[in-house]
Amino acid sequence: MEAIMRNAFLFLSKNRLANRTAKKYGLRFGAKRFVAGEQISEAITTVKQLNDRGIVATLDHLGEFISTKEEAAESAQYCIRTLNEIAAHQVTSNLSVKLTQLGLDISPQLCMDHMRAILDTARRHNNFVRIDMEDYARNEASIDIFNQLREEFGSTVGLVIQAYLYKSSEDIEHLNRYKPNLRLVKGAYKESPQVAYPNKVDVDRNFIHIIEQHLANGNYAAIATHDDHIIDHVKQIAQTHNIPRTQFEFQMLYGIRTQAQQQLADEGYTMRVYVPYGNDWYGYFMRRLAERPANVGFVLKSMFKA
Ligand SMILES: Cc1cc2nc3c(=O)[nH]c(=O)nc-3n(C[C@H](O)[C@H](O)[C@H](O)COP(=O)(O)OP(=O)(O)OC[C@H]3O[C@@H](n4cnc5c(N)ncnc54)[C@H](O)[C@@H]3O)c2cc1C
Repeated sequence: MEAIMRNAFLFLSKNRLANRTAKKYGLRFGAKRFVAGEQISEAITTVKQLNDRGIVATLDHLGEFISTKEEAAESAQYCIRTLNEIAAHQVTSNLSVKLTQLGLDISPQLCMDHMRAILDTARRHNNFVRIDMEDYARNEASIDIFNQLREEFGSTVGLVIQAYLYKSSEDIEHLNRYKPNLRLVKGAYKESPQVAYPNKVDVDRNFIHIIEQHLANGNYAAIATHDDHIIDHVKQIAQTHNIPRTQFEFQMLYGIRTQAQQQLADEGYTMRVYVPYGNDWYGYFMRRLAERPANVGFVLKSMFKA
């Protein structure tokens, strides 16, 4: 049953009509639990509140189905504005971006140009931009763009590697030449068993493997998970292998396991919360429901509220 619901939500996340309708009607159906708001001012207020509790953030301006140059340019402007607002309000947050939002599917060159403008702004503010990893069809192109940007912008840019892909351990080895700051995740998209582990137990095993590999290479790891088993394992290996807390951080999504977020921050770990905002919330919201169909209870409750 859970697998059926997961597939249904992933299918719905790709529905353009539903996405357009959702944009028009504003944050609904309990999406506020996962999305900080539609305006940058709401996102900055959320980050301030997190910072006050000892939690840092990464802001993401939501954008789906970008299919024209104009939309990609608008999206890039939002990213630049987000970096400027972070600096103006002196909140502790970096930025996460999706390359499809910046025109990857239109032209990799266009996407590169937008990334350069965003990274110029980030460098000026002494900030950092992480490229989220999307589905497998964009994986190689995303890594190529990262490689090029890393040559030009050094440690201002980071990337994400997904444990469910068979190739990830090899990618980590290739990327090691840059000593990169990588966010390591299980992976959120529906992929074919030809490229990704179909069973959760294998994904979890590979997740541990790539975390250990990246840390053993002496690199900075952002371990993005809500899974207590993984978190406990990381704490344990850090202790056993004398890995300093300055070499890794934990990351979770806004609205998910907020008590666990606070506890890790209180224990003295760097805890970074991924804070999405913007009116393009529908696809992101559906992917969160797909991860945990039990959350559909919140949707139903919010629908029946006055
Ligand atoms: C900061 C951050 C950035 C990410 N960036 C990317 C990216 O760039 N590319 C990508 O493919 N994926 C990304 N992901 C998503 C990731 O790949 C997983 O799909 C997601 O984190 C769920 O896996 P998990 O590690 O939390 O473990 P799971 O095994 O899915 O969950 C472990 C436990 O966490 C809790 N939990 C998990 N999800 C939810 C939820 N939605 N609601 C409530 N409780 C929940 C449950 O208690 C569950 O039992 C990101 C995740 C985070 C936290």
